[in-house]
Amino acid sequence: MAYDPNNIFAKILRGEIPCKKVYEDDFALALHDIQPRAPVHVLVIPKGPYGSLTDFAAAAPAELVAGFFRAVGTVAGQLGLEPQGYRILANCGSDAGQEVPHLHVHIFGGRPLGPMLAR
Ligand code: 5GP
Repeated sequence: MAYDPNNIFAKILRGEIPCKKVYEDDFALALHDIQPRAPVHVLVIPKGPYGSLTDFAAAAPAELVAGFFRAVGTVAGQLGLEPQGYRILANCGSDAGQEVPHLHVHIFGGRPLGPMLAR
């Protein structure tokens, strides 16, 4: 799928739209979700034009793949989610309900999170 450079996360990465930043490095930006579904709900987005995990895994440089996933772990640690635990989730495509076509990992925490999937 062609990457849409006008998606909301691309605009946030370019600084065109403000966000509540949690963390940033050369590979990733982490921000509070605008509609949190848990006491902690943070999004981590890679710095590059990747619509989903499939595109990212196929095309991103190894340094970015490693840096992005390292950032997810770093952010979870900085949010104080250990030792209670947390959940990460990446919606990819329409069956998963992906709304924003730029790869992002949700980090949820701050309370028991219940079953993995709604039935
Ligand atoms: P998806 O359904 O694509 O996995 O998740 C998209 C997430 O992005 C949703 O949880 C939604 O609340 C969040 N979101 C959408 N627009 C914005 C925005 O402008 N700023 C922030 N911080 N989050 C957004």
